[in-house]
Order: sequence, then structure tokens, then C-alpha cells
Amino acid sequence: MRTVLITGANKGLGFETAKQLAQAGNFVYLGSRDIINGQSAAGKLKAAGITNVAAIHIDVTDINSIRKAKAELENSVGALDLLINNAGISGEQPQYIAEYSMEAIRALFETNYFGAVQTTQVMLPLLRKSSAPSIINVSSEIGSLTMQTSAERPPNWSNFSTYGATKTALNGFTVMLANELRGEHITVNSVTPGYTATDLNQFKGFKTVEEGAKAIVQLAMLEDRSITGRFFKDGGEIPW
Ligand code: NAP
Repeated sequence: MRTVLITGANKGLGFETAKQLAQAGNFVYLGSRDIINGQSAAGKLKAAGITNVAAIHIDVTDINSIRKAKAELENSVGALDLLINNAGISGEQPQYIAEYSMEAIRALFETNYFGAVQTTQVMLPLLRKSSAPSIINVSSEIGSLTMQTSAERPPNWSNFSTYGATKTALNGFTVMLANELRGEHITVNSVTPGYTATDLNQFKGFKTVEEGAKAIVQLAMLEDRSITGRFFKDGGEIPW
């Protein structure tokens, strides 16, 4: 049974991914910045007969909470097979990067970029103890520079400029880290769920969480260890 840690798994895509990966036989830790919400989410799964789950407190912007979570995992399971950096915020819109407040820009980067980086740094020693370790960064097509510079780019994407830049940075992290960890056989990939109805977008997304989580679950279940430093969507790849 593989051990999986998902940040921001108390609701939305993280919760649905946790559910599907637990149903597929993995033991899933549901990271939550509010442990009560995490326990309630784990309780819902257990009530549905999915018992191979546990809640764990992680605020990705708080290094001490990440270190405590790492110590907890070290004591309970000793190793981590898969880390899914899913926790994210969208920020208020519109968020034109030319005029959005620096405080708001920093807050978005703190969660969406630095949160993933510091969670990964702290969890790496546990991943190194796995025989097949992987890291998945939950990104967005809005972070794709190819799509942002294409003629088909939806004009309303400018409303999410700062969020997009955090996801571009996250994609950069994926590629750099994949290159650094290739020799250790730790795979690192980005994935976009697509526009999914969750709290993040006031449930305006076109996809259900079941549909959105599909891309993340497909990547999480991939057995080919040669796949690293790539950017996936449901059923295929997406250009950087
Ligand atoms: P969501 O329902 O709002 O869930 C976001 C999760 O992240 C929540 O569990 C939230 O916890 C958690 N979170 C926020 N800040 C955190 C922090 N500092 N530490 C730990 N957890 C934190 O949104 P979602 O749509 O499922 O988003 C999941 C991921 O998918 C995000 O990275 C998002 O950017 C990405 N994504 C979503 C879409 C979409 O259309 N929905 C599209 C592309 C990519 P609380 O409950 O405590 O707020």
C-alpha cells in the first residue's frame, strides 16, 4: 500500500483526489490547515467505508506546521511514496499584475509557490525512503506560457494574471526539481485539473470535482517511472 500526502485535501479537488486514491488502495493523509476540517473530511470518507485515510495538520505557509507533519509521518509510516502539492488560493479578482497590491501578490505566491516549495523541501527525506517516490504539483492551464501567448487565449484570463504567474512559477519549480532529482529516480510532474467547480472559483468551473480530479489521479497512478518534468491534463499533455 503506497502512502500519499495531499495538501489542502479537506475539500474540493484535494478531497476528491484523496477519496479516489484511497479507493484505489493507497493510504492517504489528508493535509488540512484547519485540523478540525481535515478530521471532518477524513470522517466523511470513513463513514463511506473508506478507512485507509487520516487527517494531518499542514498549513503550507507555516514551516513549523510542515515540520511537525513530517515528524508525525516519520513516526507513523517512516516513508512517503507520493506528495501532491494541491493547496492553493485564487485571490480576489480582477488581479491585474500591473496594479494588484504587492501584499496580495506576495500572499498568492506564499501559498501557491513557496508553500509547495517548502512542503517539498521538508518532505524530501521521507520521499527518499520510498522505493518509487513521486511529487505532483497541481498547476493550471492559466500558468501555461504557451497558452497565455496563443491567439486563442480567453480575454478574461487577465482577471487571474497574478494567480497565473504563481502557477507559471510552480511549473518552473516542477521542471527544475525534476532535473535535480532525476538521478535519484524521484519523479516530479505538473498537472492541471481544468476549470472545475470548487470554492476557488465560487463553483463557476465547468467540470465536476470527479472530472477535475481525474487528471491528478491518472498521474498519481502512473507506473512508468521514466515520466518526469512534464505537464499533464486529463488524457494527455499540455504545453508549458
Ligand atoms: P478549493 O476547493 O478552494 O480547495 C483549496 C484547498 O487548499 C483547501 O483545502 C484549502 O484549505 C487549501 N489551502 C489554501 N491555503 C492553504 C494553506 N496555506 N495551507 C494548506 N492548505 C491550504 O480549491 P480547488 O479548486 O480544489 O483547488 C485545488 C488546487 O487545484 C489548487 O492548487 C488550485 O489552484 C488548482 N486548480 C483548480 C482549478 C479549478 O478550476 N478549481 C483549476 C486549475 C487548478 P481551506 O479549506 O482551509 O481554505
